[in-house]
Amino acid sequence: MFKRLVFLGPPGVGKGTQARRLAADFSLAHISTGDILREVIKQNTPLAQRVRSYMESGTLVPDEVVLELLLERMSQPDVKEGYILDGYPRNIKQAYDLEKAGVAVEGVVYFYADEETLIKRISGRRTCRLCSRVYNIYYDPPTVDGRCECGGELFQRSDDTEDVVRARLREYRQKTSPLVQHYKERGVLCEVDASGTPDEVYEKLLRAIEAT
Ligand code: AMP
Repeated sequence: MFKRLVFLGPPGVGKGTQARRLAADFSLAHISTGDILREVIKQNTPLAQRVRSYMESGTLVPDEVVLELLLERMSQPDVKEGYILDGYPRNIKQAYDLEKAGVAVEGVVYFYADEETLIKRISGRRTCRLCSRVYNIYYDPPTVDGRCECGGELFQRSDDTEDVVRARLREYRQKTSPLVQHYKERGVLCEVDASGTPDEVYEKLLRAIEAT
């Protein structure tokens, strides 16, 4: 099985949930540029303010900012055993930046689902403030309302509101979706139908990457 993977797909498709599980099962580093950027905006720096304005409007953060943060993360020792890039690259330029930086991509998993499913998954998503576990109030609700199993408080991401979600889907269609063809032409793409429960999708994911 390949151990240097890119997860590609629209917002809300469940890439993050699948990436976390695969990374834990196969000791891979889960590198989510969205998570890295959310850490950046917690700080009180000029960079944080700049990044926040893009994220809150649902548009992509400038390529050079994300690349620098990504390469810093990729220089850490846990990445040697393999990795899942979740949310990077997000446009063709970033795919070339990755190539230029010498980051190997053995397989690209493209997750797809219809737009209605995406919107319901995004609007139902709740994240734990303490352990970052992700729930969905429709499909995978917590036992106690608003509380994670670990006791942490659940919150809704500020970019998961309807207007911002629409902008994120637009960005995806215009800038990210051309990557499907890009990686297809390179012969590294496999496709996973992301409808169904997280367990069902995980089974499909395992079958897809074992076949590569
Ligand atoms: P995500 O958690 O992957 O849904 O990303 C949340 C937001 O972070 C996106 O809407 C973008 O504003 C920003 N972001 C994440 N990854 C990237 C990337 N590779 N390039 C540019 N912006 C990104």
